[in-house]
Amino acid sequence: MLPVKRTSRSRRNNRRSHHALTAKRTVACPNCGTPKLPHTACNNCGYVRPGLFLKQGDEEE
Ligand SMILES: [Zn+2]
Repeated sequence: MLPVKRTSRSRRNNRRSHHALTAKRTVACPNCGTPKLPHTACNNCGYVRPGLFLKQGDEEE
């Protein structure tokens, strides 16, 4: 199938105005300082919040 009408520059650019990507947001781990995703356990030390660590490395390959 072919498009019936050629898309104008304006229409095409307007459509693509929503396509921009945003940089992944990170916060510094308060325990070790490594950048980590907010609301997740730290990849480096497993820190979540005071009193809660999700340890990693138990299931190493
Ligand atoms: Zn950490």
